[in-house]
Amino acid sequence: MSSEKMQTTLKTIREFVHADLLPLEGGFLGRPFRELLPALKQKRDKVKALGLWAPQLPKEIGGMGLSLSEFAPVSEELGRTPVGHYVFNCQAPDAGNLEILMEYASEPQKENWLRPLARGDIRSCFAMTEPEFPGSNPVWMKTTAVKQGGEYVINGHKWFASAADGSAFAIVMAITNPDAAKPHQRASQIIVPTDTPGFRLVRNIPVMGHEGEDYLSHAEIVFENCRVPQTNLLGEEGKGFAIAQQRLGPGRIHHCMRWIGICERAFEMMCKHAARRQLAPGQPLAGRQTVQEWIAESRAEINAARLMVMQAAEKIAREGSRAARQEISLIKFFVAGVLQEVLDRAIQVHGALGLTDDLLLSHWYRQERAARIYDGPDEVHKALVARLVLKEYGVEIAT
Ligand SMILES: Cc1cc2nc3c(=O)[nH]c(=O)nc-3n(C[C@H](O)[C@H](O)[C@H](O)COP(=O)(O)OP(=O)(O)OC[C@H]3O[C@@H](n4cnc5c(N)ncnc54)[C@H](O)[C@@H]3O)c2cc1C
Repeated sequence: MSSEKMQTTLKTIREFVHADLLPLEGGFLGRPFRELLPALKQKRDKVKALGLWAPQLPKEIGGMGLSLSEFAPVSEELGRTPVGHYVFNCQAPDAGNLEILMEYASEPQKENWLRPLARGDIRSCFAMTEPEFPGSNPVWMKTTAVKQGGEYVINGHKWFASAADGSAFAIVMAITNPDAAKPHQRASQIIVPTDTPGFRLVRNIPVMGHEGEDYLSHAEIVFENCRVPQTNLLGEEGKGFAIAQQRLGPGRIHHCMRWIGICERAFEMMCKHAARRQLAPGQPLAGRQTVQEWIAESRAEINAARLMVMQAAEKIAREGSRAARQEISLIKFFVAGVLQEVLDRAIQVHGALGLTDDLLLSHWYRQERAARIYDGPDEVHKALVARLVLKEYGVEIAT
């Protein structure tokens, strides 16, 4: 897309978010999320009619066909509201699952799962992490998929499968090749429809006092002799982690730009409140040096974060996710840290009001604390960056 056309598209999206989505936020705060779904459905239809549906997907499957670098600023605009990505059908984990399906699904799998997901007719989840094993070392897992009479029989225990509640299918990581020489060659990705007997959603896990529902949930799931056809395998057997790795680069760009959108919104709220709130007649909160420092530091950190994400997106586009490993890990921990700092400062400036469910700040503070944990905790990414840097100095650090 030409840069002029991209600017026009961004302006249209910004105006849509402002006029159509921000007014819905009142219904989002402190009310069951399901009550908001009919209104969101209407907005989804409007997005389709405007030709803005699924900006990250190729045109052949109904998307806008934006490149990663073009999608990044769109993700930021949508991130300004908690319903933005969902209304445009680019929310996690569907966006990541769509990428896997585009790359690895067979024609029948595309017909059954990719196309309905791209249309927004169904939702999906991704089940890899297990409560009994460290998600930061995902190759160590227990869930198995054993071949039997043309089927895989899956047994295991997963948790934190985001958006499983109401999903039509899960992409499940399970061990199919226990004897493979290398641990990362033991698991495969298998499509499991959630209505398959033996797929049991135990509960939506309460997170920070909120249980969550629908696509804003994280489920614990048990697989008990859950049988699916062997044709539900994605790609080749034993390639589960290779497939997952490929999905992580673009996925982290999506997350980071969404977080920058949240930062910009929190920053605006902080500045507006500091300007408006009077500590005494004629003494706005904004007159205090501490608040000025928070504003200046936040501005610098958000700008830096955006530039780093764009640099990573460009490197992925140019050289692929593997070559951009260092840039991807840098943004994952750096932007998650900026997000937490900016939200914390914005809450502090609002005082007690910042803690209430009257504002989005408390929602984001709860919901987005996880940013420093999912898709790899900070420490894992910092260790990878240090390992890659130190390699240039002749130091080999074992993983
Ligand atoms: C909101 C949310 C959504 C999620 N969604 C999904 C999903 O959809 N599907 C899915 O499969 N999983 C999902 N997860 C799980 C997520 O991927 C894992 O939580 C993550 O990989 C960390 O694994 P863990 O929680 O088992 O922590 P552990 O691996 O047990 O690690 C605990 C802590 O140890 C420290 N640590 C770990 N490794 C190192 C290291 N190398 N060096 C130093 N310190 C280290 C870190 O501080 C880490 O937080 C989600 C998690 C959250 C919180």
